[in-house]
Order: sequence, then structure tokens, then C-alpha cells
Amino acid sequence: MTQAIGNRQLLKISVRGVVQGVGFRPFIYQLAQKHKLKGWVLNTSGSVLIEVEGEKADLDGFLSDLKENQPPQARINELSVSRQPPVGYHRFEIRPSLAQAGEYQLISPDLATCDPCRQDFLDPDNRRYRYPFTNCTNCGPRFTIIEDIPYDRPLTTMRRFRMCPACQAEYDDPLNRRFHAQPNACPTCGPSLELADAQGNTVPGRDVIATSSQLLKGGKILAIRGLGGYLLACDATSKAAVSALRQRKKRPAKPLAVMVADLDEVREHCLVSNEEEELLTSPASPIVLLKWQSSSSITTLVAPGLKYLGVMLPYTPLHHLLMKDTKLPLVMTSGNLSEEPIAKDNNEALTRLRGIADYFLRHNRDIYSRYDDSVTMVAGKTTIIRRARGYAPYPIHLPFNARPVLACGAEEKNTFCLLKEGHAFLSQHIGDMENEETLEHFEATITLYQKMFRIGPEIIACDKHPDYLATRWAQVKSEEERLPLVSVQHHHAHIVSCMVDNGVKEPVIGVAFDGTGYGSDGHIWGGEFLVADYKGFQRRGHLEYLPLPGGAAAIKKPYRTAIGYLYHLLGEEALSRKLPGLGRVDEVELELIKQQLDKKINSPLTSSCGRLFDAVSALIGIRGQIDYDAQAAIELEMAADDILIEGGYPFTIELKDGIRIIRLKELFSGIISELSSGVALAKISAKFHNTVTRMIVQMCCQLAEQSGINTVALSGGVFQNRRLLQQVTTTLTAAGLKVLAHHQVPTNDGGISLGQAVIANNIMKRG
Ligand SMILES: [Zn+2]
Ligand SMILES: [Zn+2]
Ligand SMILES: [Zn+2]
Repeated sequence: MTQAIGNRQLLKISVRGVVQGVGFRPFIYQLAQKHKLKGWVLNTSGSVLIEVEGEKADLDGFLSDLKENQPPQARINELSVSRQPPVGYHRFEIRPSLAQAGEYQLISPDLATCDPCRQDFLDPDNRRYRYPFTNCTNCGPRFTIIEDIPYDRPLTTMRRFRMCPACQAEYDDPLNRRFHAQPNACPTCGPSLELADAQGNTVPGRDVIATSSQLLKGGKILAIRGLGGYLLACDATSKAAVSALRQRKKRPAKPLAVMVADLDEVREHCLVSNEEEELLTSPASPIVLLKWQSSSSITTLVAPGLKYLGVMLPYTPLHHLLMKDTKLPLVMTSGNLSEEPIAKDNNEALTRLRGIADYFLRHNRDIYSRYDDSVTMVAGKTTIIRRARGYAPYPIHLPFNARPVLACGAEEKNTFCLLKEGHAFLSQHIGDMENEETLEHFEATITLYQKMFRIGPEIIACDKHPDYLATRWAQVKSEEERLPLVSVQHHHAHIVSCMVDNGVKEPVIGVAFDGTGYGSDGHIWGGEFLVADYKGFQRRGHLEYLPLPGGAAAIKKPYRTAIGYLYHLLGEEALSRKLPGLGRVDEVELELIKQQLDKKINSPLTSSCGRLFDAVSALIGIRGQIDYDAQAAIELEMAADDILIEGGYPFTIELKDGIRIIRLKELFSGIISELSSGVALAKISAKFHNTVTRMIVQMCCQLAEQSGINTVALSGGVFQNRRLLQQVTTTLTAAGLKVLAHHQVPTNDGGISLGQAVIANNIMKRG
């Protein structure tokens, strides 16, 4: 009931969402002044509470400003308003925070330096001139410095720095951009930089950034401590520097990311669309995969054989200053050796990056949680490939209310996911679960998320693969804590993660195309057509099973896969030494592979589409051995670049026991005959992409007719292939089907944990 004395009213408002640590209370304070309202605002553990009183017209103005003109980093998820009789407040104030047991709040990711802060540290008259830890409520570190909530300085790694009077005055002034900016700092009171040599000894000098810039210009490799860990940096135009970095990091070919000064410089090296520009300059400031121009001065060693370059803009003051001083594009790649997690602590970096970095540019603002750079691309829409800095720990919105679930994810590109109410807290990228350090990172990050978001899981979910490290960890955990364990089929999890990514609840036709996933029948799946919902799935079709001679060895050496496929499909006579991919294979090895296939020794069967790409790439002589995951498939995609061609190779769909199986014999004989008549590799690759597109479209159309379902969800690492994704999306749409692809959540195994969590929640639903 609305009561009013004259026209005066009191509004009680509760706001939930990302509303703390983003300048929300000062914003409310200023709005109250603007609309001549009295009352107060305060943070609780779970929300921001506001009481304002004044004339009805002013209150209405306040409410509409609140909804429409929020601070740039705030996100309102829930807003409740009740109207009450006024109580007669005399002024507007920001009241002290209220801690409530069990409540939690959403936490902002770390955000790229904002423009006003950049102006501060570039202005010689400003007290923060060239100060590399400048930040405000709209930018700077957040998640990486938080140890617990509420988000207040004593619970962050900034607690050891006591603010000087000037900083404290900013911190206390509701009208200042740095009001309650927890990492607020200046050269007098805040963190500082230090340059050390390879042994960890301090390099003397007054301007550490200028000295570091000189070293980079001289071709040295620097380990630079950033927001979420150390990055290794060197001159991206220098062949010598980049090849030294590759050698020392034991990364012969995997593409490296590059940081450039600004958008103008991006355009010197790459083609950039409006959407890509927006992404590059967004507060998340991710790495964006851009079309690389041949005129670029960045050495091709940065991404050998590739037509796309991972580019990001400077996202901390330190980066801005280094870019300004060096005037060079810089390689900026994770500070680790091969598959280990990114190094974050100073001593850890000194040990783990010994022999890689010539110098260490370090600081004393500790990093609480490791946090890699995010990787994105624009393929139709923005797609996140690696989700970390700038995105996590923002939750993914669930179209339902969930029980508390912990899902442990997959082996490669691991993430975990915690569900609570309408939120899925998908962790930042953890890494490949193949060493002790990554497992420790996984465990520490689970502990942090459970603490921050006050989640005590009632259900644990994992992959069906018995040997995944994350699966074994989940088994032990569920026994220790006596919690039910739900093991989820890998491709079902892929499809459900794509459904949730798109907010879709209804059953879909799922196309799960990836490298490897443990199948319900014990074979390796990866070219799957499912009819799926949040609870279950039916496998309605797949690529035919073919042998992988040597299992894991075939994944590293795609020529083995090619031999396995040809031998099985077309027989011995197909294994001609004249084929580009087989000419260099050792006689003895070839014999051994044949024996292995004949006797079915260590030759698991797979329906994987990733392996099909591998086999074709190796067969036509593009890539027979790989240095990084999916290299053969990626280079096959690159080979077709810019080729527009109609037509494809034949294949058949066979219905066997109600399951549609795609037979590949004619596809391979078609490719072989084109190879022998000298057709260009680019054309073969383009026609192969057309063929896979047709397979997907034909299968989906048949399944749609059979099931009455008209929505298709595309998931799995194969859909990082832009050419395929775009062709499939266009053709399915033209066929009248609705297409769901990934956007917020990786299509690769980085998205698996979200699917696992949602499926476990639905299987274990109460009642
Ligand atoms: Zn700022
Ligand atoms: Zn200060
Ligand atoms: Zn997968």
C-alpha cells in the first residue's frame, strides 16, 4: 500500500548483482544529490540496500537513472523496490557495511585500465605519473587479490600497504573515482616494481620501466609479473628473440599472443572488424584472434603456419608504459614451461622460469589466484575460447534454480563449475590436468570459489573417463565427504553446456565434434549426433568407428591415424608411398603399424571428428606430426583459407540398429584420386570442409524430421574451426533449423564442467 505525506515517499530498494567494488555506492550517493533525496546506502554480504525519500517525481527520476545510468562495471541482476511512508531523513549518507552469515556477493573480474587512470599516469604533473599500479573503482585488479568476502582491503593482498593521507582522502570521498577502491595506491604508499637478473639479484637503476624497455628492445626475454601471473615478453618483430623464447620454453610451434600499443597499431598488423575492435577495447581486454596481414612486421615465428594472430591491448598501467617506451609489438605469453600453470609468486617464478627469462620485472602486490589471459574470436558472434581474465568469476546465468553442485571438468583445458541458485560459477581456465602443479591450482581455486560464494556442494559431478585426474579427484572427494557422485558422458556435457550458454531448456539435436571423449560403449567418441536434454541423451548417429594405431601415439603423429583409416577402409593397396603424407614414413614403422592393425593391438576404435581432420591433414601432406593440440586440423583449415569452392566428396549414411553411421570410405578414395590428379591442397581442404558440413546438415535434417526437434546445438573443439562453424551455421539455418553455438562458454573442453554440473543437478533433483 502506498502512503504519502503530501507527495513525499520513502523507497526501500535492494539491489543484487555485480554491485560492489564497482563504484556503486558513490553512484547512488551522487544520484541522491542530483534528485534532492535523503536517506542512506550500504553494502551487505549479499546485496546493496538503499533507502531514499523525497518527492515522487524525484524518486521516479532516481529509479530511472538507477536502472539506465549505472557505473560501467556494475551489473544489476535483481532490483526490488517497495514504497513506504517517509521517516524524515535529514541527509544522505553511506553507512558502514553489514556482514551477514551465509550471504555471498558476485565478484568482479580484474578489469583493464580505464581512460581517466591512463591520463593520470601519463600526465607529468599528476602524482601518479608513470606509476604502474594506478587504478580506481572502474578498473584494476579485483578477483586476483581477493582472499575472502566482503571485498574490503583487509581481506585482499593489498592489506600490507597502508594508504598515505592523499590516497586515504580519495578512498573516503564519495564523490571521488577512487572512493572505496580497495587496491588504491600511489608511489608514496603502494606496491613498487623491481628489476632482477636471471639469478634474482636486483638490477640497480632509477627508472625500472625504462631499463626493462631497453632490455626488450635489445632482444632480451623478460618475465613480467602482471595481474594474474607472470607473462614472458620479448620483441615480436625479432626472429632471434622469438626463436630463443620458443627453444627455452620448449614450445616449438604453438601460437604465441602479441600485445600492441593501440588500435591503430593493431590495424598495421591485422584486419579488424568493428566487433573485434569493441572486444579488444572492452574492460575484459582479452586476446582476440585476428586475420593477420602479410605486410605485418611481426615475425611469422610467433604463429607459424597460421593466418590468425592472437592480439591484445595493454590492460595494466605497466603494460601501457612498456608499450609506450619500447614502441614495439611484444610477445606476451604465459610464464610457464610447456603445460605447467602460469607462475604467480616471485620465488616460484625465479625457480620455474629459470633458464627461460633473462630478467624478471617483478612487484610486491601479491597475486592470490592464478589468472591467465582470456582468448576470444569473432566468428559471427563473439566466442570465448579460453575464459579467464576479465570474465571469471562472473557467473553464467542458469535458466532454473540449482542445488549446490561441484563439477570437476575434463582433462584438457580444465575448468570446474559450482552451481548455486540461478548461477553457474565457471572457474577460470585451470589448464591441462597432467601434472602436480595444475592439480594444486585446481584444488586451491575450488577452495577459493567455495569460500567466496559460500557454496557447500551436495553433489559432485565428473567425466565418465576413469583415468582423468579430475575424475579420480572427484571420486576421492565424494567418498571423503560422503556426497553422491554423478559421472557424465563427455559429449552429453558438451551439448548441455551449449544449451545453457544459450539459455535453452528444451531438448535439442546435439552435434558434439571434438578430439576425444570417453564413450558409453568404451570406445573413443568424438563425431556424435545426440538427442539430448538436461537429464539424458540418446546417441542417434556418429562417424564410423576407425582404428587409431598406437592410441595416444596416433594423436601425436597423425600420419599413423591416416594409415589406420586408409588400411581399414581401402586395404593395403591404398597405402601408396606416392601419397604425400606417406612418402616419408619409415618402412619398418609402416610394417609395425599394419601388424598392430591386423592383430588389433593397442588400436582403439574412434568416431572422433578431430581425428578425421588429423587423418586428412596428414594424408594430403600438410601435417604428419604435431607440436600442440589440434595443430594438424588447424593447419588443414588454414590451407583452405580464402578458397571459395562448391562441391565435396561422397559419403554414405547407413542406418544400423536405429543409429545413423556416416561411412567414410568414399571420402578417402575421393581425396586420393584428387591427390593423384594433382588437385591443389587448398581445394582439397575446402572440399573436405564442404563434405563435413554436408554430413552435419544431412544428419541434422534427418534427425529433425524423425524427432520433431528443430534446434541444433553445436559443441566440441572442432567448432573452433571458423570455416566449418560458419558453413554449418549458414546451411542449417537455410534448412530451417535453429542453430545454437557457444559464446560465453568455451566450445572446447573448457566448457565441459558447466554441462556436467547442470546434468548432475537435474539427475539428482529433489522429488
Ligand atoms: Zn581507473
Ligand atoms: Zn598513496
Ligand atoms: Zn571434448
